[in-house]
Amino acid sequence: MDANERIAYVGEEFVPEAKATVSILDHAVLYGDGVFETVVAWKGRIFKLDAHVRRFLRSCAAVALDCPVTQEHLTELIVETVRRNGLENAYIKWILTRGSNGTPLMDPAGCVPNLIIMARPYIDRSSATGLRVKTVAVRRPPGHVLDAHVKSLNYLNLVMAKVEAKAAGADQALILDVHGRLCEAPGFNIFVSADGVLKTPRHDVLRGITRETTMELATERGLQVQETELELYDAYTADEVFLTSTAGGLVPVVEVDGRTVGDGKPGPVLSALQEDYRNALASARWSTPIG
Ligand code: PMP
Repeated sequence: MDANERIAYVGEEFVPEAKATVSILDHAVLYGDGVFETVVAWKGRIFKLDAHVRRFLRSCAAVALDCPVTQEHLTELIVETVRRNGLENAYIKWILTRGSNGTPLMDPAGCVPNLIIMARPYIDRSSATGLRVKTVAVRRPPGHVLDAHVKSLNYLNLVMAKVEAKAAGADQALILDVHGRLCEAPGFNIFVSADGVLKTPRHDVLRGITRETTMELATERGLQVQETELELYDAYTADEVFLTSTAGGLVPVVEVDGRTVGDGKPGPVLSALQEDYRNALASARWSTPIG
């Protein structure tokens, strides 16, 4: 399927993706001003669509963007985009840009928000062998600088973290907050498992939906789960470390700053949760049929 066959939603209509364009005066282009979401469809069902739509509307509210459609209509448009692309397994992204007021000035007055929805075939990006991650110099901004709860288009902080990690030969970055506590990897939440307790950072992180699912599945397995403050020490000494995201799933980390995690292979807690997650993706429990 090429860009002429794929269908995207933009400017309040479905168009061939090749014709889906935004103005160069859109504040998303000029300032990274907008919010977005990513969901996946698996075997004809979209996973936790409702939770993603609700988080999206919270992001809109937090940055004072008026979503031009209702929650129900947005949900229908997302499902319809996947349907029109004939996809069973899909990576779906929707964006609300601030829009433009006809000038390149950084003034939101008069901007008309623009909703964009796209769907692509799902690509499995998970690593079976595990990632080598590296702490980077760039830090996650505190909430009063740029709130990590908001899934905004302002990703330069995360992109720079990834650039730095890759330049140093690592697979992925590990980003700390300004106090030196563990936060996230670019586009992923992080978990550490030690002595049977699964822990994930609670401050200055996106409340990832895969993070939430992982905590739910772990609790159902009888594991103790904590949202807490974590230091690098916790990652260096953990039995297991892994990352979570909608697009990537649950991804093992086998090395942190040159220290081998556990025995250097994906561990049993992760394997069990990956299996639960795969089952959850394909089940009706948390998913919406594309129809
Ligand atoms: N943190 C950041 C900064 C992200 O961009 C993402 C990806 N959306 C995540 C964490 C993981 O969130 P989710 O599980 O909802 O995809």
